[in-house]
Amino acid sequence: MKALCWHGKNDVRYDTVPDPEIEHPRDAIVNVSSCAICGSDLHLYDHFIPGMESGDVLGHEFMGEVMEVGSETKNLKVGDRVVVPFTIFCGECEQCRRGNYSVCERSNRNKSLADKVFGHGGAGLFGYSHLTGGYAGGQAEYVRVPFADTTHIKVPDTLTDEQVLFLGDIFPTGWQAAVQCDIQPTDTVVIWGAGPVGQFCIRSAVLLGARQVVVIDNVPERLSMAEAGGAITINFDHESVLGRLQDLTNGKGPEKCIDAVGLEAHVTRTPDSVYDRVKQAMMMESDRAHVLREMIYVCRPAGVLSIPGVYGGLVDKIPMGALMNKGLTVRTGQTHVNRWTDDLLRRIDEGQIDPSFVITHSVGLDQGPEMYKTFREKQDGCVKVILKP
Ligand SMILES: [Zn+2]
Ligand SMILES: [Zn+2]
Repeated sequence: MKALCWHGKNDVRYDTVPDPEIEHPRDAIVNVSSCAICGSDLHLYDHFIPGMESGDVLGHEFMGEVMEVGSETKNLKVGDRVVVPFTIFCGECEQCRRGNYSVCERSNRNKSLADKVFGHGGAGLFGYSHLTGGYAGGQAEYVRVPFADTTHIKVPDTLTDEQVLFLGDIFPTGWQAAVQCDIQPTDTVVIWGAGPVGQFCIRSAVLLGARQVVVIDNVPERLSMAEAGGAITINFDHESVLGRLQDLTNGKGPEKCIDAVGLEAHVTRTPDSVYDRVKQAMMMESDRAHVLREMIYVCRPAGVLSIPGVYGGLVDKIPMGALMNKGLTVRTGQTHVNRWTDDLLRRIDEGQIDPSFVITHSVGLDQGPEMYKTFREKQDGCVKVILKP
């Protein structure tokens, strides 16, 4: 089959690789109809995440038709149309039973490596390095889905791929970030970053009834898309973020802050080397850690900081005094995708939101390598790419 494979920094190729096969009775093979490039794939593209091997199949946002099932995958049948969540989960361990799917204790088959980095590692992920299980991703014609009897979202034929594809990652990611803010009708919610996840944070905060939603970015296409979604925009190239937020909140600061930027951080086997690499990265990407500090500074006392942006290791110089004395709450985490998807699928079906608004580019899978570059460089008005195998 054909797939997009990682071969090193800024080197993604449209390769021919072996077809996946059922390896376990709970597996299914999905014939991919649509897949997407996620913002977090760019951390791999830029080679900020170690544990990648040349030839690894990329991609963790994908959907398609079930074409083969293992003997224990009884609630899926050949022909079912499914979106696949990026977090692989068993549905049976203690964390899964509590709905904490992104920290499933059993789906990361390289968990001992992740445990060394984080104390206790999280779930297996598709196409996201050998630290998260080394599973082949979904930017491919076919994918093996482990624990497929739980790791899926069934979708009706009445909705298009474009409407439901993002249920696998960026929509529930934006939604969880907003839900974790515990939004009240009097709240100002500020979102740093108007990329695809930021866009879904905006729509989610609006749906959850925030008084005003503000977004900070400097890419014109992203800012106009954010405005269309109901956000007040701040272009940090042209105006003072602090001044504008003071004006919008009568000098009191926003109650809720969302970091949809993250840090292009590194994960390796010891915390010390992570620390060094992050410091290195911060010299190159000096804006990135700035977001976290700025949120702590501007947030109203007793407010909430919600962090869906990806962080990998240790972060330097966090103003702990401000964080503690202001009584801020910090909520984080990879997305517990399936905790939210029944509700979100219903909202799409009822027309409350059509997630296809975020798509700016739709091309064949063979054009994937150049699309990684276009997305990385934010060229051609690119906000979100979907690929058709
Ligand atoms: Zn993602
Ligand atoms: Zn589990």
